[in-house]
This record gives sequence, structure tokens and C-alpha cells, in this order.
Amino acid sequence: MNNLLETPIEYLKGVGPARGDLLRKELNIHKYGDLVHLFPNRYIDRTRYYRINELVNSGAEVQVVGKVINIRTVEQKRGSRLVATFTDGTGEMELVWFQGQKWVRDSIKINVPYVIFGKCTQFNGQFSMPHPEMELLAEHEKSLRTAMQPIYPSTEKLSQRGITNKVMAKIMQQLFIETQALFSETLPKSLLKELNLIPKNAALFNIHFPKSQEILARAQFRLKFEELFFIQLQLITKNLIRKHKIKGHVFDVVGDYFTSFYERHLPFELTNAQKRVLKEIRHDMGQPAQMNRLLQGDVGSGKTIVALMSMLLALDNGFQACLMAPTEILATQHYNGLTKLAEPLGIKISLLTGSTKTADRKIIHEELENGSLHIIIGTHALLEDKVQFKNLGLAIIDEQHRFGVEQRSKLWHKNDIPPHILVMTATPIPRTLAMSLYGDLDISVIDELPPGRKPIKTVHRFDNNRLKVWAFLKEEIAKGRQVYIVYPLIQESETMDYKDLMDGYESISRDFPLPQYSVSIVHGKMKPADKDSEMERFAKGKTNIMVATTVIEVGVNVPNASVMVIESAERFGLSQLHQLRGRVGRGADQSYCILMTGHKLSNDSKIRLETMCGTNDGFEIAEVDLKLRGPGDIMGTQQSGVLNLQIADLVKDRDILSLARHHAVKLLKEDPSLAKPEHAALKNAYIEITKKKNIWNYIS
Ligand code: ADP
Ligand code: MG
Repeated sequence: MNNLLETPIEYLKGVGPARGDLLRKELNIHKYGDLVHLFPNRYIDRTRYYRINELVNSGAEVQVVGKVINIRTVEQKRGSRLVATFTDGTGEMELVWFQGQKWVRDSIKINVPYVIFGKCTQFNGQFSMPHPEMELLAEHEKSLRTAMQPIYPSTEKLSQRGITNKVMAKIMQQLFIETQALFSETLPKSLLKELNLIPKNAALFNIHFPKSQEILARAQFRLKFEELFFIQLQLITKNLIRKHKIKGHVFDVVGDYFTSFYERHLPFELTNAQKRVLKEIRHDMGQPAQMNRLLQGDVGSGKTIVALMSMLLALDNGFQACLMAPTEILATQHYNGLTKLAEPLGIKISLLTGSTKTADRKIIHEELENGSLHIIIGTHALLEDKVQFKNLGLAIIDEQHRFGVEQRSKLWHKNDIPPHILVMTATPIPRTLAMSLYGDLDISVIDELPPGRKPIKTVHRFDNNRLKVWAFLKEEIAKGRQVYIVYPLIQESETMDYKDLMDGYESISRDFPLPQYSVSIVHGKMKPADKDSEMERFAKGKTNIMVATTVIEVGVNVPNASVMVIESAERFGLSQLHQLRGRVGRGADQSYCILMTGHKLSNDSKIRLETMCGTNDGFEIAEVDLKLRGPGDIMGTQQSGVLNLQIADLVKDRDILSLARHHAVKLLKEDPSLAKPEHAALKNAYIEITKKKNIWNYIS
């Protein structure tokens, strides 16, 4: 049967070359097998027939069985309309046409039972249905489409060229007639039985021609499960293969660097979460396989020290390590922080960014190649071909989702044996989503903040309360605290946004005048050196207020800053708001986040603001964000597009996803290479799917 599914689509009766061409171009349907996977977007419930005396003025689509008893043209101011009287014995209603009147008039049969379908409206006590879908009752009973009517994805071109939904449904019927719905089962019998799943055949038939809501739900469940199950198989297999096949450096020594740092120079007690995560990383790097680990930890959870200690392990085993950050500011900050922490250890750390001078660059290149430089911290500049290592053992990437796949793989190939990879992110990715997007990465979570942090108090204030907000800032500054005031910078409206920022800066400078106050400003159009020196002034406490765009979003650490004011907060996404808020609350003082907005707020903005005021928990926020925006936006279209799901929805179907994951893990444990005879069909399907959908190359 599989061969039949390979048949080019134009061979299907009712399709032909012209329609075949359209289907290929518009819906990417090339073969019979593609068509069967064109799943309806929605269904119109045609399981219920209404009587005319039951109709209510709800605007819902209804279907009625009855006869046309007369038909007439009614002249009106502009043009005319065709009106038919339709009765079912319980009452009368009107059917109305404005277009195609002649054709309708010629084709409608009087006093013959029809099924009509459409939206009903009431006018002067009389129900009428404009442009109803009509089908002779006799035909209606014969067709497969006796119940729920599928509505297929379409495009403007398709409907223009006559491939209406009705035509599509006919084509689909034809497909099932020609193939006799013999689609081979892909899931093992035991799984079908255990989960009470309907067979593939039945699922495909019922997704297109369901007779009831119940059977439709079962068909959807089966197909969603299957889709997610195969993705999980791929991701898990990939992970297993990596662990077996991709060699990694074995870091089996815990040496002087690590031990002396841990015992003598650690500035604070590690949290339990940090200890656990370090143990996981140590275990990974002790195996002869490459580590590929995602380290999730909310802002301020202390990922940096974990990064440093992991790098020390690499050094203890005679390897170099690198840390890559998405911005120059962040790289510089890491450099400063880590140099200070590692000072007593006598290791050599350098910084490499776009603004590193050529002469310094040369030295760094040399030292990296001869091995005298132990740790390099930097931006994208690390990826340049000129940067070669003597022996890179560990690559750490901070704030991962700003780097693309390609960039990551560049780091991989710097040496024959790829370095262990640790990706750190402060964007909490809900577990289910992480499982499906990063199912091939191992995940560590720092789910505990260092002790003594006071939860940040977050409030929402309208712009017309600004005076009160400013007064509050003055109180805080009087206590010696510092303040961030952040303006949105959204690419499309860049000029406007810069104007807002500069206007804001001017009025803040007036309201907080010298010499009592001093105000810094940092934005993306400044030269890196100027940015750094402004940041530096603020970090050293020389200025009270930092006015900035989101350039400060990622990672800066000024523990004395205790107030974060976010202007036009309604324009920021939830995860961005959460990241920004994470800039305060790093010291021992009570910190505040003030979300400023105008009065006009969309529903989504209201939910975002309420969520921010209600919780400090990044995972909770991420869940809301996921619901509001969908996974595509959160992970970046590129990454969610990789999954390219046909029927399952990562947000709505997260329970099915967990189920699929669970069973995929279980099955691969029993039969890692899918070699058992009862898994033959599964294996074939798996091979087919991996040919089509390669999600392999996107992490590594
Ligand atoms: P992030 O996870 O956001 O990168 P950082 O690593 O910058 O967080 O840590 C935030 C702050 O918390 C830093 O000032 C750091 O020194 C401090 N810190 C980290 N771990 C601990 C700990 N276990 N106890 C106390 N302070 C800690
Ligand atoms: Mg950080």
C-alpha cells in the first residue's frame, strides 16, 4: 500500500495536472501520502438537524431538512435578490441569494427534499439564510460526509481557482476510495492496546470524515500521540547516539584548581541547587562522551559560579575553556567578575570582543594556540576562524537563544574531539516545551535562589502617577540606592523609540538635576567604549540613575541598584519584563520593579502586567507567556519551525507530549535499535519520517 501513497497527486481522479500543480505549489502536496496528511483545521458539526420552529437567532451555522416551495426575484434599490421559501412542516424560512441568481434559479428543484446549511439570521420575525449550502437529501445520505464537515486549510489561489472546501472534501473522499484506506499501522500493537489507541487506518479516516465528536477526538488523540511519539524517538535516539558515538574528553581528575577554589576561595556557600547541578556536569564530563547540557536558572540564581567551577575542572584535566556571551557588556562583565574570583588561582583569563585591539588580538590568538591562555571570555568574536585552541575542552554559552545553531556548531569544530558544551539560559523554558525542543540535550535546573534575597516588589502605575513614582525614586536614592529606568526599543519603530528615550532622558535629567543627582544613559547607538564607561560609572555608584534601552537586559550585575522602572511596560513581552526585573534584587536591600503604562491596555497586556505583579517565579511566568504567545514566539520561529507539527500543539497537547515522551523512553530502553520484529513497522515509519523531517542538526 505504501507504493500507492507514493503516487503523484495528479493521478487521483478529480485532480489532474492543473489542480495537481496548484496543490503542489499552494499546499506542498505532491503525492497521495501527502494529501492524507492534510488535516482539517476545524469541523462544522453537521450531526444535528434543526427544525425551523427550533431556530434561534444565534448566528450559528445550522442545517435543516426541507423543501423549496417557491422561488422569486425581488427587486431592490440596487440590483435584485433571489428569495426562496423553504419549509419543513414546522415552519417557513427564506433562502436568499444576491449572486449567481440565474444559476441557482435554474438548478434548484421545487418540492424535492434538500439539506440546507448555513448561518441563520432573523429579520421581522422571519428566519433567513443567505447563500445556503444545499445538497439533495438523497445525495447527502449517500456521501461519506454525513456528519462533521471538515474544513481544510486553503489559500486564496486555491479558492480562486475553484478548489473550494467542498472540492477538497471530494478529492479526499476519492483518495480514500482509491486507497481503500489501507494505511499501514506504525505503532506496536502493545502500545495501541495499552493506551487504547485506534488503529492508524481508522484514525486517518475519522480525522477526515468523523461521524461524531467522540470518534473525532479519538482520531485526533491517536494522530497527535503518534506525531509527538516519533519526534521524541528521534530526539532520544539522537541523545543516545551522541552518548555512544560522539567521543568526548574524559575529565576524570578533580585537581588543584577546583579543590583549592572550592575549599579556600569560594566567596559564599553554594546553594543545594548549584551543588546538584555541578555534580551533574562533573558526571557528564567524566564520561567518554561529549556533554551537551542545558543549564536553566532564573536570573540571579548564580549560574556564573557554576560556569567558573566547570571551567576549573577542564583546566584541572589539562584543557582550555571558553565562555561566550551575546553582548560585549555581558562578556566584559563576566570577564571582570571571573578574573576577580579566579585571581588567587593564578590562571590566565582574557577577553576577546569586537573591540579588542588588533595587537591584543594577536597575542590572544597566539596564547590560545600555544596553550598558555587557560580561559577565554568573549562574544561572537570567539567564533572567527582565526581563533584556534590548543585543546578546547569546554565551551560555555551564556544566554543561549540569542545564538543560532550554526554558531554553536562552529565552536564544536575547533578541535578534532568536540568540547563539552554547556548552554546557560535564564529564560525558564517550561518542562514540556524543553522536552520537545531540547529533548536531545540533558537539562539541569537551578531552582533555588541564593539565600537572603528578598522577593522583588512589583507594582503597576499609570503614567499620570509619575510624580509619585519620581518621589519614591528620590526616597530610594536618598537611602543610597540606584535606579534603572528602561525604555522599549522595538526594531520596527526604532527612530520613534530613540526619540522617546532621549525625551525621557532629558526630562529625567531635569527632574533629577545636578549636582544632587546624576543620570547615566546607555543605548545601542553608542560606541561600545562609551557604553562601557557609562555602565562602569553606574556600577561604581558614580551615577544614581541609569536610563537605558534593553541593552541592559542581559546579565548586568549592579547589586546596589534596587529599583527598576520600565516605561511603556505594555510593549514588552513577559520574558523580557522578567529578565529586566532580574537586574534588581541582587543585593540585600528590598528591591522594587515599577511597570509604567498609559491607560489604554490590551487584554494580553493586562494579563502580562498582572502576572508580573503576582509572581517572581520565572517558570510560572514562562507558562503564562507560552499560553499568550505560543511556543513559536518564545523559542524564535526558526526553532519552533523545525518541529513543523502537523496536528499536535505543544501548548495545548502537553499532556499527550509527556505521554509520548514516557513511552518513547520506555520503548527505546527495551529495544534501542528497534530491532524486534514487533517494531518493524515502527522502524520503517521512523526511517521515513527522519528522511523527511530532520530535527537532528539544530542543536549540534
Ligand atoms: P545568573 O544566574 O543570573 O547569571 P549570577 O551568577 O550573576 O546569576 O549571580 C547573581 C548574584 O548572586 C551574583 O552577585 C553572585 O555573586 C551571587 N551568588 C551566586 N551564588 C550565590 C550563593 N550560593 N550565595 C550567595 N550569593 C550567590
Ligand atoms: Mg548571568
